[in-house]
Amino acid sequence: MNDPRAELREIARLAGGLLERLAAQGVDRIPFGASAAPGTRAAADPRGRGNGATGAPPPAVSAPVSSAESAARTAVSSGANVAAALARIEKAVAKCRRCALSNTRTRTVFGAGSTRPPVVFIGEAPGAEEDRQGIPFVGRAGQLLTKMLACIGFGRGDVYITNILKCRPPGNRDPQPQEVACCEPYLLDQLSLLKPRLICALGRHAAQTLLKTDTGINKLRGRFHDYHGISILPTFHPAYLLRNPADKGKAWEDLKRIRLFVDGKTE
Ligand code: URA
Repeated sequence: MNDPRAELREIARLAGGLLERLAAQGVDRIPFGASAAPGTRAAADPRGRGNGATGAPPPAVSAPVSSAESAARTAVSSGANVAAALARIEKAVAKCRRCALSNTRTRTVFGAGSTRPPVVFIGEAPGAEEDRQGIPFVGRAGQLLTKMLACIGFGRGDVYITNILKCRPPGNRDPQPQEVACCEPYLLDQLSLLKPRLICALGRHAAQTLLKTDTGINKLRGRFHDYHGISILPTFHPAYLLRNPADKGKAWEDLKRIRLFVDGKTE
């Protein structure tokens, strides 16, 4: 299909039908409780290489400009330019020694997915499996995240997935404030290139760090907030949902909100 408007209309039509189909199939409530919902795309490639054509043009990002970002601030109108600029930052991250996590990491975990994502999903930090593979959310929690995305019609390549920290904290301990301070500029660089319309903060730590608050996730989740001019909707971390499946229903409500937002049906 060569007409971008027709393509967008087609995407909106397919997405609009998706939730109705899910409801008709009786998987209206928590479709990621078991396997991915029928008729949805589960991602085959965890690196999430996709075309990212979903959604309307994103707003400008008013994030502070850091050095890596300004180097990347040549024309970034095409996906190829964005990919090249991201690759330059990823290279810088791979060599990063700003904090002590560089001494214990196996690999840096930069991020993966579309170069034009309607939504960027942000977790807290890589775990053991991510540290081994260099890809975000590929462990058990990542597998649940992949199912959650599929339930709202996204493959991993349709969105972008990353973390606040690009290196694993030893023993999966909570990120420390000075580690966040060292790493957050890389995230801002990513966001200013990706220009998502929406961020989904996965879990308490990501939500509190991005929103600079100590309000609990139960109060933050399910509502839209602002992060440097981008709408942000916190929800539960998939690792939390693995431990607390009773809260999957609330996460499903949040995911439906994300889908509606991307389809231009709310806010
Ligand atoms: N948990 C996270 O927050 N991020 C990952 O990449 C994996 C698990």
